Amino acid sequence: MLINKLLYWIIILYIVFIFYSYFDVGEKSIQGQTMGTYYIIKYVSKISNPSWKELHNNIDFNLKQINNQMSTYITKSELSQFNKFKFINTAFPVSLSIITVIKKALYINKLTDGALDITIGPLVNLWGFGPKKKNIELPSKKILKLYSKWIGIDKFTIKGNNLIKKIPQLYIDLSSIAKGYGVDIISEYLESKNIHNYMVNIGGEIRTKGHNGKGILWRIAIEKPSNKLLEQSVQKIIKPGNMSVATSGSYRNFFKKNGIYYSHTINPKTKKPIIHNLISITVIAPTCMMADGLSTGLNVLGAKKGMKLAKHLNLPVFLIIKTNKGLEEHYNSAFKTYLVK
Ligand code: ADP
Ligand code: MG
Repeated sequence: MLINKLLYWIIILYIVFIFYSYFDVGEKSIQGQTMGTYYIIKYVSKISNPSWKELHNNIDFNLKQINNQMSTYITKSELSQFNKFKFINTAFPVSLSIITVIKKALYINKLTDGALDITIGPLVNLWGFGPKKKNIELPSKKILKLYSKWIGIDKFTIKGNNLIKKIPQLYIDLSSIAKGYGVDIISEYLESKNIHNYMVNIGGEIRTKGHNGKGILWRIAIEKPSNKLLEQSVQKIIKPGNMSVATSGSYRNFFKKNGIYYSHTINPKTKKPIIHNLISITVIAPTCMMADGLSTGLNVLGAKKGMKLAKHLNLPVFLIIKTNKGLEEHYNSAFKTYLVK
């Protein structure tokens, strides 16, 4: 009788133990600052090696390294040194990661008919959106014409691990794609440590894989556009699965002059900040670098051309457009599968 009762409790405890070890896998999170914004990483793993602290340190180290390579805000970064380098037809060696990101940006430049253009730097700075943020006088036509001579992907070449300027003024700005690259690198790092359930988010550019702490696919919120700094609410919830999500918007980083909103995204064709009714565009792609670059490129193209290109590429895209009646959502069928009902 006593043996039976003991056996009964052993079985119950065993079931409870199995139940907890299966479901209570615990979601851990790592947070910090990078690339002028915040990052948050959530992961689910039973592995205790590496420890949370070791992961945190290595993630910070990786992100610092990327920033020291690609930031235009850090004056001593590799990219800043290249931008300051005034010699033409002279090889300037850079890290392989910079070459990787630039090559991807050149590929997206082709896909978007020149809309994503990393040589846009001089214009970003001229319009007051670069590292030396300033209150600007709107540039004259003459100045814009002068600066336009310095923009274009034909103004430099790549040879092995070297960048070669064709004009001294060439200035590369990787801000449109570097966060996405960072997300990919951290995701690959987690994979290398046998962590396969994670959500990596750098300033809203996100990659997810596997499941969250509740054992279901990660849920990601698309922000409702608002130009009030502290106001944040949700427009839509999606589940990207094993994909990446990036949003480009004109509602956070802009200035207003004479009643016109000037966004930090510049149209390489007009040389001016984009002015259109597309407020926010979210793109889903396998890598975050691709999603990040494409969301900026499609943002430049605007709603109509952007949607047309998305259809051609079979790219999941979600738009928020400003109309007389308020904000309107648009998404294509490729995006529909990711929506949480
Ligand atoms: P965020 O995620 O910060 O909203 P994006 O990924 O859309 O921004 O990148 C915007 C940044 O990219 C700008 O701040 C500027 O530095 C740079 N940029 C602006 N216009 C272009 C462009 N047409 N092509 C490439 N980079 C651009
Ligand atoms: Mg981008």
